[in-house]
Amino acid sequence: MYFVKTPWYLKSVYPSLIWDIKKQTTLYLTFDDGPIPMVTEEILKILKDYNARATFFVIGDNVFKHKSIYEKILMNEHIIGNHTMHHTNGWKTENELYYRDVQLCEDIIQSKIFRPPYGRIGYNQIQHLKKDFSIYMWDVLSGDFDTNIDVEQCTKNVIEHATDGSIIVFHDSEKAKDRVLKSLPKVLEYFSRKGYSFESIN
Ligand SMILES: [Zn+2]
Repeated sequence: MYFVKTPWYLKSVYPSLIWDIKKQTTLYLTFDDGPIPMVTEEILKILKDYNARATFFVIGDNVFKHKSIYEKILMNEHIIGNHTMHHTNGWKTENELYYRDVQLCEDIIQSKIFRPPYGRIGYNQIQHLKKDFSIYMWDVLSGDFDTNIDVEQCTKNVIEHATDGSIIVFHDSEKAKDRVLKSLPKVLEYFSRKGYSFESIN
């Protein structure tokens, strides 16, 4: 169970987390969990077709394994964010170990923006990490990670819920591949026609 559209009350409980960006006719596409061969590279091509900028919240361990794909993301002028070294769940991890996993990723990528894996981060962890990072959550989940939905539903999730300044989550992962690669061009096409532009978080 997950919310496609983040409810307002959740946003208000965690005001120090960033859920959306107040900007007209602009959308913020984000891609979590990469870089992954084929998937990330295909996404880069699709983004280029629409002259879209995006933000990639990478797993440090994947950057380490796929350095050349990571460099391609940078070459295409997208922004990189920290998504820990090993996709660590904040709720299940002792604070010092959690901070260390964030730092290990930071050592490789040097980014000042962070997204907690699974969106799971404790109150004390937020207080600690917000000293060094802007912590970005999201406004709309595409559901591309959900193997129970099809491309059409994934596309609908975004088209029906994204609005001015929405931060939207997709994944450059093996699990999401079948949905993200087909849904992303539809989303880009739909919102481009409506006059939206796609920017990186910075
Ligand atoms: Zn993740």
